[in-house]
Amino acid sequence: MTVRIEAFIDGRFVPAADGRTFATVAPRDGSEIAQVARGDARDVDRAVAAARRAFEHGDWALADPAHRGRVLVRLAELMTERLDDLAQLESRDTGHPIGDARSVDVPNAARCFAWYGEAIDKVYGEIAPTAADALALIGREPLGVVGAVVPWNYPLIISAWKLAPALAAGNSVVLKPAEQSPLSALALAELAAEAGIPAGVLNVVPGFGEEAGQALGRHGDVDKLAFTGSVPVGRLFQRYAGESNGKAVSLELGGKSPQVVLADAADLQAAAEAIGWGIFYNAGQTCHAGSRVVVERSARDELVARLQDIAGGFVPADPMAPDTVLGALISTEHRDGVIGRVERAAADGAQIITGGAQAEPVPGGAYMHPTLIEAEDPASAIVTEEVFGPVLVIQTADDVDHALALANDTRYGLAAALWTSDIRTAGRLARRLRAGTVWVNTFDASSMATPFGGMKDSGRGRDRSLHALDSYTQLKTTWISLT
Ligand code: NAP
Ligand code: MG
Repeated sequence: MTVRIEAFIDGRFVPAADGRTFATVAPRDGSEIAQVARGDARDVDRAVAAARRAFEHGDWALADPAHRGRVLVRLAELMTERLDDLAQLESRDTGHPIGDARSVDVPNAARCFAWYGEAIDKVYGEIAPTAADALALIGREPLGVVGAVVPWNYPLIISAWKLAPALAAGNSVVLKPAEQSPLSALALAELAAEAGIPAGVLNVVPGFGEEAGQALGRHGDVDKLAFTGSVPVGRLFQRYAGESNGKAVSLELGGKSPQVVLADAADLQAAAEAIGWGIFYNAGQTCHAGSRVVVERSARDELVARLQDIAGGFVPADPMAPDTVLGALISTEHRDGVIGRVERAAADGAQIITGGAQAEPVPGGAYMHPTLIEAEDPASAIVTEEVFGPVLVIQTADDVDHALALANDTRYGLAAALWTSDIRTAGRLARRLRAGTVWVNTFDASSMATPFGGMKDSGRGRDRSLHALDSYTQLKTTWISLT
């Protein structure tokens, strides 16, 4: 595949209206990969106009759902055929280990398109109960033009979580990828066209948040905005919507997800391994990363010893090497920010157990060692704020109720995990943990069939599963008189 660097608008790759570009950089070594079109309000205008025309034209929106489904399944097949190219692109642009890009990023994104493609012709409407003199139909219709703005941590997967249900339902979409990772979205646009998605139905405008992102958020002809990213920018999108046309906004925001380990956990080694993966996978740059351990005091020493062992197995290494498990962070600026947070926490009295420093397996790259830090003060920044790096905070609880209180003592509510061998404790705490997903004796188990999203500051709305279609459709009542 040629590396695409222009915006994809109305079925064609085009430069930005004013010809400007920006650099996308490889976190592996800090080198520039390409200059990419820097879309702004004019490009967003062109893309939204193309999306609206395509929607009104109806050869996608009004097509047999089975046709849309076949095209999305074809897109998934093309992604699988180009797995190597897509994985290389994603790994170079983000610093993800190439093994993970090949086995997780590309297959999961492809699976998402196939899943909604397979599902969409099996979604029925309803007939409302009425007297015999009427027929009242309740059907789902697409919204129109959907704007999607996504972050850099899982560019392909998070884009697929938005695009697949939106397109399956018949919407047109304008996608703005993150400035750090625009390349896989542009490759996806090329494959979507090849699969048979009509011109204008899927548009990709790379660029900066304040420019292209804001223009999409404020656009008067966008019906819905689907956003994944940080809490402050999520709030901005709610404001953009309110100050423009009141468009619907769904938000998938950050987290500070607790791993609650109780003294009666059946297998502390299994818990420790899952906790290690849950925070060090993708260098901790996962919105639902299990970034806090809340452990009952009597299990603390053994768990921490096992976690230290496990952290030692995550050696920062070249993401392009096939056996690397801990690759680069997204940029040296972000890496330095993560280390700064750890250093400030230590200055405030937290205890660094291991890590905390940068690494340099490839010169110029954005690497750091896996870090364990123990914090007494539940109000300290390292406990309450999202770090988005390979940094695990350990908190100790006096008993089960204290553990629950510490786990819920957060503005976030994306995910939580619970390790216990008592089914009653598991059931009671799973009900009371305020999070969109609660795992019991596992971490990060999921499928396309399970919804994903947050409570509290972690967001509004859900990605994945048939419930995600609620975000991209509206109900239409048709009342037919039979008299
Ligand atoms: P971010 O700064 O919120 O950026 C996300 C997207 O919003 C990017 O495309 C960005 O464009 C755009 N943006 C930034 N400022 C904007 C503005 N003023 N107006 C309109 N758009 C704007 O987040 P990030 O640093 O890329 O990603 C990390 C964050 O995302 C973390 O907090 C993480 O928890 C969260 N996240 C959540 C989930 C979830 O599912 N809940 C998943 C992944 C990540 P630029 O790239 O040009 O800045
Ligand atoms: Mg990049």
